[in-house]
Amino acid sequence: MENSSRKELLAAYYAATPEDQSKYRYQYSLVEIKKREEDISSLLARLPGDVLNFLEIAGELADKQEVKAYLIGGMVRDLFLGLENRDLDIVLAPGPEAPELNPDLERRKEAHPPGLGNRGQVSNPELEKRKEKGDILENYLRELADVFQAEYSYNSKFRTGNLLLPAGLNVDLAEARREFYQYSGALPEVEAAGIIEDLFRRDYTINSLALVLNRVEWGCLLDYFQGLEDLQEASLRVLHSFSFLDDPTRIVRGIRLAAKTAFSFARETSVLLQEALTGGDFSHLSLERILKEFEFLFASPVNSNLFSLLQQYPLFNLLNLEVGIREGLEEELEKLESYLAEFREKNYNREEWVLRLALFIGDAGEELKKWQVRTDYKEIFLAYESYQSLLPELAQPLAADELVEKLKPLQDEELLILLARSRNKEVEENILRYLRKLKNIGLEITGKDLLANGLEPGPVIGEILARVYRQRLKGKLSSRTEQLAYARSLVREVKGKKE
Ligand code: ATP
Repeated sequence: MENSSRKELLAAYYAATPEDQSKYRYQYSLVEIKKREEDISSLLARLPGDVLNFLEIAGELADKQEVKAYLIGGMVRDLFLGLENRDLDIVLAPGPEAPELNPDLERRKEAHPPGLGNRGQVSNPELEKRKEKGDILENYLRELADVFQAEYSYNSKFRTGNLLLPAGLNVDLAEARREFYQYSGALPEVEAAGIIEDLFRRDYTINSLALVLNRVEWGCLLDYFQGLEDLQEASLRVLHSFSFLDDPTRIVRGIRLAAKTAFSFARETSVLLQEALTGGDFSHLSLERILKEFEFLFASPVNSNLFSLLQQYPLFNLLNLEVGIREGLEEELEKLESYLAEFREKNYNREEWVLRLALFIGDAGEELKKWQVRTDYKEIFLAYESYQSLLPELAQPLAADELVEKLKPLQDEELLILLARSRNKEVEENILRYLRKLKNIGLEITGKDLLANGLEPGPVIGEILARVYRQRLKGKLSSRTEQLAYARSLVREVKGKKE
């Protein structure tokens, strides 16, 4: 599409009413809307006992409340992929009948070109009935929580809830909804809808499969958008052409999914992804929100799939940073992992995603400096830039106290970044000497001991402690008694000078 007509289309799309925006999406959909049903109850039987038990009870309670309950998303996808998953997503939709493919959708797609559509609401008798009954999700959550003696949380504004069950089983619940975006990267406004629309708002077709939990149809898989085919073809496909612009976090989610499953992006999806990354406007996307996705992306070591995806797609454009993949980065990541493995056991205790991300974005300079994020994270992101000038000094032979003086101001994590990025053996040895040994050397005496030995309060206390510490760094005065004896001799020296 020409650039100018594309811009006009996007402007019209984001200015459209919720109803018209839906029509645009169906008009520019990349999938056929065609219902396929499969009985996968035998596959379900392979789930761990506690998950299966939960799903059965979730289905029974839905029957009791005359709603449909569906298991959606990652858990269904991972069931087919044979991957373990302990995060369940359940969606409630009007019931009790099986949701039929809404013929209205197809008709609207044909009959109303975008912008000319009928602006009235499509009436949905089931939804109307539901409204009269009050807050179904909250009742449902309460009952589930009762059965499992679990805590639950409920958000009445977004109509979502969460339940944390024993053994780390996490359940997110929501009512079926459709979404509306006022601009690219905005938080969506949501309104109640049927299950098809709920599935159509999802990120990839393989995440848009729904499994009925109600007893009569237990194990019936609904696939409206060829998600099963995509699963078989190991393909990641978005549902419509506006998907990445509506919600750019889907880009990071897709890269994470591709890296995890070794699936490839379908051709149009790959084109849309590149286009979004190179031409999208992410100025409205909140840094906090997108960084959350990077946190998940870099929660575990960067595997070779992920590394090649990051070479192929300029993902860091989402952070409004211009950074390429520099020569040697893959080796630096490996080095980082080996140092993380060593220090994770010791005093080091920081989220590792920050360090992995720092290796990718550390050269972004001014833009990075403007970020409003936690100071300790920012220092780690900027560690190489801030301390690059220290590296030549660290390449020299250094006495223990000199080394400590240079490295003490840095967080351990900043040092790990320098270690990973350094290409000089002496520098690495010095940093490791500090981290492995010198940093852990402390004093077993304090200023109070000096006061108890007759010293007046004042700067001289600090000076004496520093002298004792220097001896400690040299490997001397290993016990408190020795430190105290040496400190006393220094006190005497000071007092002698005064008299
Ligand atoms: P995992 O975290 O293991 O990759 P997941 O797909 O279950 O798996 P969740 O974040 O738990 O990830 O999301 C649950 C489901 O919600 C997804 O499968 C997808 O259908 C939908 N979803 C989540 N985030 C988005 C998004 N930004 N846009 C559209 N759909 C989304």
